Amino acid sequence: MDGERTMGGARGEERRLTCVLCPAGCDLMVTAPEVTGGRCPKGRDYALKELTAPTRTLTTTVRVEGAKPDRLPVRTLGEIPKEAVRRGVRALDAVVVVAPVRLGQVIVDDLLGFGVPVVATRDLPATRDLPATPGRIARDG
Ligand code: SF4
Repeated sequence: MDGERTMGGARGEERRLTCVLCPAGCDLMVTAPEVTGGRCPKGRDYALKELTAPTRTLTTTVRVEGAKPDRLPVRTLGEIPKEAVRRGVRALDAVVVVAPVRLGQVIVDDLLGFGVPVVATRDLPATRDLPATPGRIARDG
């Protein structure tokens, strides 16, 4: 979630952000390096990082073979640069996992070379024992 709003004129020095680190959602006024409006010191760190090197946790799904549903929700185990999120999603589009998958299982060791792994966010058992459903033929073995 982005909460940046630019204030002022051409100089663009003054910015307002909503801190998203906790439910308080403090409105931060930033005139770097001054940050006001946060109820705790984390707000200042958040605002300065957001304006200089923003990062995000990437959440998406990858394709799964041998399970229903055939998409597995995954997330980065840490944050990557915000500007790399779309590239990360595209890279994960090419990943195919074979069921069964366990919650927390590492799906990609190091996404885009940022040293951040991608993990499964749910268990996904293999479905070959499931009964046949309309439009689907259960296979033996
Ligand atoms: S500044 Fe502190 S209290 Fe306010 S939203 Fe951020 S983390 Fe929460």
